[in-house]
Amino acid sequence: MNRPVLPGAAVGVLGSGQLGRMFAIAARRMGYRVHTLSPESDTPTGQVADLELSASYDDLDAVRAFARGVSVVTFEFENVSAAAAAAAAEEAPVRPSGQVLHVTQQRLREKTFLAEAGLPVAPFVAVRSLAELHDGLERVGCPAVLKRAAFGYDGKGQVKVDAPEGAAAAYAAVGGEAPGQDCILETFIPFVRELSVVAARGLDGAVVHYGAVENVHCHHILDVSVCPAGVSPAVARAAADLAREVLERLEVVGVLCVEMFETADGGLLVNELAPRPHNSGHFTIDACVTSQFEQQLRAVCGLPLGSSQQYHPAAMANLLGDLWQGGEPDWPAALRIPEVKLHLYGKAEPRPGRKMGHLTALAGSAAEAHARVVAAREALTRSG
Ligand code: AMP
Repeated sequence: MNRPVLPGAAVGVLGSGQLGRMFAIAARRMGYRVHTLSPESDTPTGQVADLELSASYDDLDAVRAFARGVSVVTFEFENVSAAAAAAAAEEAPVRPSGQVLHVTQQRLREKTFLAEAGLPVAPFVAVRSLAELHDGLERVGCPAVLKRAAFGYDGKGQVKVDAPEGAAAAYAAVGGEAPGQDCILETFIPFVRELSVVAARGLDGAVVHYGAVENVHCHHILDVSVCPAGVSPAVARAAADLAREVLERLEVVGVLCVEMFETADGGLLVNELAPRPHNSGHFTIDACVTSQFEQQLRAVCGLPLGSSQQYHPAAMANLLGDLWQGGEPDWPAALRIPEVKLHLYGKAEPRPGRKMGHLTALAGSAAEAHARVVAAREALTRSG
């Protein structure tokens, strides 16, 4: 039943973005075949996969046929419906399971799961009407953050509420009045740092993690990640322990990222879970013995996990479509720094805010890596 899926077999990826692409590259390097399914074509994943199928995730017959053609199904896009995950599971193992997807794709379910597991989260309430929002603001206090419960990412569908007078405008801004649109209201946390821990859990229950990563966001989109984070050893340990606990409680088979806030007293609050490799773990490709993508492959195929040891301090900077505004970025300028690595995702259209690629810099210290990756990114547009 739990025999490993060995090299030569086909692995299926639901979703076709850059996460699937980097997964596919890791899988192909180890001799696997990769199939991908998404509604699009000529996708970042499809370009490097053996087979690209274009179908809606709601086309359950297409999802079943896709799953029949592979030995295991994983995903790079967690907003695949429960019905699609169940349809795939009729034909092949789906890892992580549909249950992990179910919990993590809706913020209320996710926060409720975390709170019930005794894990630290910001105070929150469910909001299903403007009246509940007014009520909620009294309970969690102002300022607060109102978020759509489902299908939000990169800060989409969320707004800060500074005072009760702003409730109606905030509710409209997140589209709370749309039928069935549940929201979550959380206390605004004046964090000192945002951290994440990417971890993997194998079919045998073994867990590895990459330590605490420090993340800087810009307009709610991840801008730069630095590892190791500049936190105390106690905070780094607590963050890793939290991540391990989440993966074990959810019985994840695969990779999961736990995003957290560090508060002024060194406390940690879990903000969000992503049941897949994460943008803040991209540095692992260039800086670690086993990348987060190879780790996902090993986990979902039932192979032993690889070492997560990091060779050098590293920093990653995202390359958004905005960088193309003045024309093609000056790639040689960034690559003139020999410890800088370029990753591009094969996306034709550089729209503002779109993740087109990233740079990773290695250095003798995290601070140096951070400075180096920022300098490399700046060099891309200096001449333009
Ligand atoms: P999310 O979509 O939940 O990952 O939120 C995106 C970003 O919004 C986070 O990375 C934080 O920078 C910020 N944010 C989200 N929730 C809160 C909160 N409760 N308090 C303060 N900032 C928040």
